[in-house]
Amino acid sequence: MLNLLLEIQKNREIIKKTKKTLKEESNNSFMKKIKREFEEEKLKYKALDSKLNATRENMGQLEKKLEHMKEEVKQEESKLYGNLKYDLKFISTLEKSVKLKKDEVKNLEEINLNMMYEEESLVQEKDVSRKKLIHMKNEFCNNKKTIGEKALKAEEDIKKAEKNILSLERKLPPELLDKFNELCAVKGTGAARLSEGVCQGCRMKVSAITIDDIKKNKDIVYCDNCGRIIYYRDNNE
Ligand SMILES: [Zn+2]
Repeated sequence: MLNLLLEIQKNREIIKKTKKTLKEESNNSFMKKIKREFEEEKLKYKALDSKLNATRENMGQLEKKLEHMKEEVKQEESKLYGNLKYDLKFISTLEKSVKLKKDEVKNLEEINLNMMYEEESLVQEKDVSRKKLIHMKNEFCNNKKTIGEKALKAEEDIKKAEKNILSLERKLPPELLDKFNELCAVKGTGAARLSEGVCQGCRMKVSAITIDDIKKNKDIVYCDNCGRIIYYRDNNE
């Protein structure tokens, strides 16, 4: 009978430990970290994306402006070198205008080139960020899967232990089970094996009176130190 009590204790311990592990897993700080980092990277990616779009839009506007300006230069130059006769003052104004516009074209082309470099680097940064996001997502999913599998296994272990306890309890005399459950609930102890006069629950030598009680075949004998059940009179054992 004592063996059955110890078996029950062992199974209850399994349930307790498994539930603790389950709780720890559900509060996994690693997963929280990945999730937080993922959210941060997502923001970074979005910012890069809008920056890239803005740059491209600016480039588009700049190119239109450039084309327009080049067209104007072309028109003014054709006036300048055409066969039409203009007065000197007009020619001088036209020449100045062409020069200014050519300078502006040069300036805009410079800006445009810089924007192209910026666009290229943004594209690269965005690509790096995208790859990071994919990697993080995969890591998250893989971990989630592993945690899910662990949780399933834990639940199975708990169910198995609960089933074991039920069938063990059925084999016990009710008064012994009641006493045992009371000890478990109130003191958090239960039962322990006695080995060469030493209680294996508290590692203390029990008194001579207790040993005597066992010899006298008392119904239930408790460790006089920790109160665990150390003996039960069982005619079948
Ligand atoms: Zn003890």
